[in-house]
Amino acid sequence: MICSVCSDKTRSNGIATQVFRRDGLTVTITGIPAVAICPNCGNAVLDWEVAQQVEDLVQPLFEWTKTHTLPKPIISITFPEPQALAA
Ligand SMILES: [Zn+2]
Repeated sequence: MICSVCSDKTRSNGIATQVFRRDGLTVTITGIPAVAICPNCGNAVLDWEVAQQVEDLVQPLFEWTKTHTLPKPIISITFPEPQALAA
């Protein structure tokens, strides 16, 4: 697979980190299983279903900022790696 960002050759399978920024809120999600990762620029290719699940996870957090007045929290979410689950 060729990276859509830098055209380098991607590595198949890996763990991705994605940062979502919306309305001043930043949510960092690590440990996302990726179909492919570019070793050059870090661009990750996610399964559609995985991307959708991640989106469903962050969506309520962005909704929260619209209806609450506290300062925007810094949110970090980590999925355990598959090896850790097997152990
Ligand atoms: Zn790349």
